[in-house]
Amino acid sequence: MTMIGFIGLGNMGGPMAANLVKAGHEVSGFDLSGEALAAARGAGIKATEDLSEAIDQADVVITMLPAGQHVRSVYGDEHGLINGIGKNTLLIDCSTIDVETSRAVAEQAQQAGFMMVDAPVSGGVGGAEVATLTFMVGGSDEAFSAAQPYLQLMGKNIIHAGGPGNGQAAKICNNMILGISMIAVSEAFVLAENLGLDKQKLFDISSTASGQCWALTSYCPVPGPLPSSPANRDYQAGFTAAMMLKDLKLAQEAANSSGATTQLGAEAMKLYTQFADEGKSDLDFSAIVQLVRDS
Ligand code: NAD
Repeated sequence: MTMIGFIGLGNMGGPMAANLVKAGHEVSGFDLSGEALAAARGAGIKATEDLSEAIDQADVVITMLPAGQHVRSVYGDEHGLINGIGKNTLLIDCSTIDVETSRAVAEQAQQAGFMMVDAPVSGGVGGAEVATLTFMVGGSDEAFSAAQPYLQLMGKNIIHAGGPGNGQAAKICNNMILGISMIAVSEAFVLAENLGLDKQKLFDISSTASGQCWALTSYCPVPGPLPSSPANRDYQAGFTAAMMLKDLKLAQEAANSSGATTQLGAEAMKLYTQFADEGKSDLDFSAIVQLVRDS
């Protein structure tokens, strides 16, 4: 049994921490939200309102926080993790954040003598609940090997993407592909409508031809061809348009700071921003087809 401190017990962190409890570990949790703490207690987590209590005895500390600023403050503040944990504690940040912050915090941890990985996830709340998440991991070989046994209890694909920050880099590159391809698939269905081509025919042909992609075959943006897609339940998310916009913004920040030209990524961010401005950010990201159709 390992003592695990878990910081950030929200939609993702709560069920992830619960899976560590189910695997027989002792998990102490901390969150700013009383609601999240109460739900965590129900899942067998020792939830506390005091960060230092949650990390005090921990062999491993896992964070699952909203954005870079939260990670910076939870790790680097005077009363934060890096100053509060014991020697040899392993640090795992599963939040999706900007590459720059991820690398800065990893550097701070390393300077203080701790092993750390960034391990953002894909797979959503459903994947967190049934422990089928994909983890994209950045860090040294040694840190990856140390983190792997814990990540395996919360996910099914654990991929080492390279040094510190490379997990975040993989996550935003992947989601930039997804955002762009969802818009491309949506445009194709709207064009087909205008040309009198039946959506089922387009699906049957493109899903077995060169237009095949995940946005088409797993999250088809129009109702009908794929019964499991959110389009068949009024675009109830799945993966919200707000989450997609967050990741597209991170991708653009990274493109700007690294000098990469990502014109379609920039255009995708613009369209999802417009969609959010229309008050639709809680819909599944495949609902972008509505904006494409109405443009
Ligand atoms: P969430 O808002 O449900 O949970 C975040 C939790 O962090 C909240 O309970 C909040 O109270 C807590 N928190 C904020 N600041 C804190 C602090 N300083 N100390 C302690 N707790 C603090 O968000 P989520 O959906 O669980 O997402 C978490 C991360 O996972 C995000 O980075 C998100 O981008 C990423 N992610 C989410 C999904 C998804 O489908 N929800 C999928 C993949 C990745």
